[in-house]
Amino acid sequence: MQHIQHVLPWSATGTERTLSLFRFGSGARKAYIQASLHADELPGMRVAVELKRRLRELEAQGRLTGVIELVPVANPIGLGQMFQATHQGRFEFNSGKNFNRDFPDLADAVARRLEGRLADDAEANVAMIRRAMLEILADLPPADSELDGLRYRLMQHACDADLVLDLHCDFESIMLLYALPQNWPRLRSLAARLGAGAALLAEGAGGNAFDEACAMPWLQLAERFPQANIPLACVATTVELRGMADTGREECIASAEQILGYLAEQGLIDGEWPDAPSSDCQATPFAGAQYACAPHPGVVSFLQPLGARVKVGDPLFEVIDPLTDRHSVVTASTDGILYARERLRFAQPGLWLAKVAGATPIRQGRLLSD
Ligand SMILES: [Zn+2]
Repeated sequence: MQHIQHVLPWSATGTERTLSLFRFGSGARKAYIQASLHADELPGMRVAVELKRRLRELEAQGRLTGVIELVPVANPIGLGQMFQATHQGRFEFNSGKNFNRDFPDLADAVARRLEGRLADDAEANVAMIRRAMLEILADLPPADSELDGLRYRLMQHACDADLVLDLHCDFESIMLLYALPQNWPRLRSLAARLGAGAALLAEGAGGNAFDEACAMPWLQLAERFPQANIPLACVATTVELRGMADTGREECIASAEQILGYLAEQGLIDGEWPDAPSSDCQATPFAGAQYACAPHPGVVSFLQPLGARVKVGDPLFEVIDPLTDRHSVVTASTDGILYARERLRFAQPGLWLAKVAGATPIRQGRLLSD
């Protein structure tokens, strides 16, 4: 195991923050796994603890057949953002920016660099594109903030991986995956192993989140150079490891083992591993997800458990204004699975309280929330 440390730029004078990455194994194929980019989403960090322990063991047994890079704390900035005993790990205090948005968009710069140089040989194209990505990142001007410095380092390690797993969670949630539709066939067995109850697929959900920043350039380059043979060389997914409180020892150990089984299936680990369960969840368009908000302020009572299958018109939650007695029941606007619920129980304007994964697109434009 190699421990690589990057000092982040622009720490406050007299302090220093470091991004730590653990590299295991060797070989041509590479998987990159990071946890808790939203720093208060801790199930991924707990799973990473177990992954680190197991990868060290597997490496000592000589069973790693590829490189696996693990970043258990992908966001040391957000990890320190405690405010009066409340953890804010999603938005940077300094800029207000979401830690999982605005990663470098590499497709255009790669296209400019490789115009006329990509041909029939898929393997040569992949090598050339990865080299170009690393050069482009290295040529970027020095980061003008600590956050930019963090984004640059994460991308630098992930952009040449065959497989990228970004471990997040929702407030209260079932296990689920976000991915490009084109990558779903390669991710179905991961979803099955993890027992995911939903997979939300979108090509460009908006905001250039980390998984898309890794996977989308391949799609965009293949479209841009149709005569060249450019495979989707980076399969990336955001895994929502249930809800924020789901750091239970047994469930996180099980999730780590399921991820290792998937890595083995992808050719990165040798030996005997359980087959993926044959049944998996139905993937649905991210545009089919209902974000149910309250029509007015008030105290919230949920009327459905997580994971419930609901039909159009089924009640999701009720909101009651305790002073005016105004009472509203918010219902499902699509048939689907209630996959996530807000933690707060007081309705805020414009903030979703429940999300339902439906099969019919009902939203347009930018799909990701801020
Ligand atoms: Zn997140």
